[in-house]
Amino acid sequence: MSSVTLQSVEKSFGQLTILKAIDLDIEDGEFLVLLGPSGCGKSTTMRMIAGLETISSGTLMMGGKDVTNTHPRERNVAMVFQNYALYPHMTVAENIGYPLKVAKASKVDRVQKVEEAAGKVDLLPYLARYPRDLSGGQRQRVALARALVRDPAVFLLDEPLSNLDAKLRVAMRAEIKHLQRSLGVTMIYVTHDQIEAMTLADRVVLLSDGEIQQVGTPDQIYDDPDNLFVAGFIGSPS
Ligand code: ADP
Ligand code: MG
Repeated sequence: MSSVTLQSVEKSFGQLTILKAIDLDIEDGEFLVLLGPSGCGKSTTMRMIAGLETISSGTLMMGGKDVTNTHPRERNVAMVFQNYALYPHMTVAENIGYPLKVAKASKVDRVQKVEEAAGKVDLLPYLARYPRDLSGGQRQRVALARALVRDPAVFLLDEPLSNLDAKLRVAMRAEIKHLQRSLGVTMIYVTHDQIEAMTLADRVVLLSDGEIQQVGTPDQIYDDPDNLFVAGFIGSPS
């Protein structure tokens, strides 16, 4: 079954159309990577799926339901941003549990779910710390745990590793992939880094100028580019 479907989705800001007729079918449990140069519309696509940005025209389906105009809370998604956006005055546990507090979950329920989510990303020893006392990788895990805590069917990760140094990025990549596989969730992951895309993806969507250039497995994109843009982008050092 498809998890997320975009049908002729377009986005304009004023006169400027920045996404044109996007058609995309994301399978349940798939690791899909949105790859493309800066400014091509990756974050806008993610924000539309999350419900943080309106869709100018077209249809967005999730789990077989039309969610084109629904509130973010009615979508079974969680988003992780590039800058983590942790609350500095809250402990790790409070940061992770925040979405449950907003959803008015009981305290008992919150404590249990926070521990469960923290356990999945090896954060249990750090629950009482504040973000400032964590490493970059640990902060990233807090952001992941905060996404996990409400048990979403779809995870949206927008350049989640770009603030980390190269070595940590490679390690966190493997962790994220492992997490996605072990939970069996759908992950949509944005990057401008082709190596990251190729290592993580079941399928890659290559975007440029608001249009899909090619959708395929890493091998298909690498071995059989559909056009010169794809060949040039994949061939160039990132
Ligand atoms: P990416 O994430 O691929 O770097 P974005 O989705 O952030 O690209 O942006 C795509 C294009 O849309 C860019 O040209 C950007 O300037 C433009 N854009 C994004 N948000 C807005 C907005 N709120 N108003 C006007 N233009 C925007
Ligand atoms: Mg972006």
